[in-house]
Amino acid sequence: MSEADAPTRRHGFRTRAVHAGIAADPTTKAIGPNIATSTNFAARFGEVGFSAEGTVEEAVPFAYAREGHPNAQQLEEKLADLDGGEDAVSFATGIAAITGLLLHRLGPGDHAVISDVSYAGTAEFVRGFLRKKGIEVTLADTSDMADLEAAIRPETKVVHAETPCNPVLKLVDIERAAEVVHSGGAELIIDSTFATPAVTRPLEHGADYVVHSLTKYYGGHGDALGGAVVGDRDRLAPLRHEVGIHLGAALSPFNSWLILRGVETLPLRMAAYSATATKVAAFLEQHPAVEAVRFPGLESHPQYEIAQRQMGLPSGMISFRVTDRTRFGEGLEESLEVFQFAASLGLSRSLILYCDTEDLQRTTFKLDDEHLRRYREFAGDGFFRLSIGLEDADDLCADLDRALSVLEA
Ligand SMILES: *Cc1c(COP(=O)(O)O)cnc(C)c1O
Repeated sequence: MSEADAPTRRHGFRTRAVHAGIAADPTTKAIGPNIATSTNFAARFGEVGFSAEGTVEEAVPFAYAREGHPNAQQLEEKLADLDGGEDAVSFATGIAAITGLLLHRLGPGDHAVISDVSYAGTAEFVRGFLRKKGIEVTLADTSDMADLEAAIRPETKVVHAETPCNPVLKLVDIERAAEVVHSGGAELIIDSTFATPAVTRPLEHGADYVVHSLTKYYGGHGDALGGAVVGDRDRLAPLRHEVGIHLGAALSPFNSWLILRGVETLPLRMAAYSATATKVAAFLEQHPAVEAVRFPGLESHPQYEIAQRQMGLPSGMISFRVTDRTRFGEGLEESLEVFQFAASLGLSRSLILYCDTEDLQRTTFKLDDEHLRRYREFAGDGFFRLSIGLEDADDLCADLDRALSVLEA
C-alpha cells in the first residue's frame, strides 16, 4: 500500500480496523484482500540469494513465502496500526510469537523476569525450556511493583507479563511496570491477548513489545491459529530476520486472510463481549452459590482503579469460584445448553474451563510458597474461567443459573 492510500491514525479505531493495511489490488481492482498462496515470487538475476542475510528484502517485495507474503504483510500493517506500533511480525501461533521473541532477546547468561501467573504454554516454556538452555528466570508478581523491582538484576534483559493475565485476570499497571523495568535497564513485553487494542494499547503506556495470540479475540471465530509481535521497526527488523527466517514459524496465507477478516469486526465484537460479560459477571456476583468473581468491569476487582485507567472496555473473560467445585463441575455437562466446556477463548461461542490449583501448580506454575499464597487469594483450590461469546446474555445467565442450582439443592 502506498503512503497516499494508508488510512492515517487520525481516523477512528473502527475505520482503521476495516481499512488499515488494505488497498484495492492494483491488478484485479478487488477492494478486499485476495488470498495469495504462491510460495515463490519472481525476481531478476542477482536479486535473490541463498542466504536470508543481506539485501534480498530491499530488492524485491517478496521472495519466498516463509519470509513474507502479501496476506501476512496486509495483516502486519493492520496489527501495527491498531496497536499504535511502527511494525508487526506475524507467526504461525501465539506461542511461536512469544517463544520467538524470548529466544531472540535471550542468550546463555542472560536473565528474564516472567510473571508468576501466565498462559500455561508460556509458563512451561520459561520454567522448562529456557532454564535448560542456560537462561536464568525469576518469577515475579508483575502486578506488585515492589516484587517486580526486587526480581530485576543488572543482567535482566526482558520482563514478560500479561494483562489481564490468564487465567486469574490480575492486571498489570503497564505505565508503572514500564518505569520499573526501564530503570532496571530491561525491556517490557506485554502479552495483550486478553485485551486486544480495542481495550488497551500497551505501547502507548510504555511497553516495548506487544504480543498477541491472534487465535483468540483477534481472529475471533475459533478457526485459525496465529500470533504476532508489535513494536518499533528497529526492534522488529532483526526479529523478522532471525526468527521469521531461521525458526520458520510463518503464518500461512489462508490463516492471515481469515484473521484479516476477523479484525474488521474486532471493535464491534469486543464491545459486545464486554457488554454481555458485564451482565454475566453481575449475575454471578449476586448468586448465593458463587463465592467470588473476578472481572475487570466489577468494582469488586481488587485492581478496579487500574482497569478504569488502562482498559477502554472490560473485555469478555470472567473467572469465578463456587461453594462446591466438584459438584458444580460434574453437573455441567447436563445443565449447560449454550456454554461448551473447552479450552481457548475469544470466539463467537461461550466457553467454560476449570482451572485446578494443585494440578496447575504441579504441572505448570511451580510457584514458591509466597507466590502460591498470592495465587490462592483468588484461585482457592480451583475456579472456573468463562470466555463470553456473542450469544444473548439472558441465555448465558440462564445456563449458569441451571448449573449453579445443583449447589442450592
Ligand atoms: C492462547 C494464548 C497464547 C498462545 O497462543 P496460541 O495461538 O494458542 O499459540 C498466549 N498467550 C495467551 C494469553 C493466550 O491466551
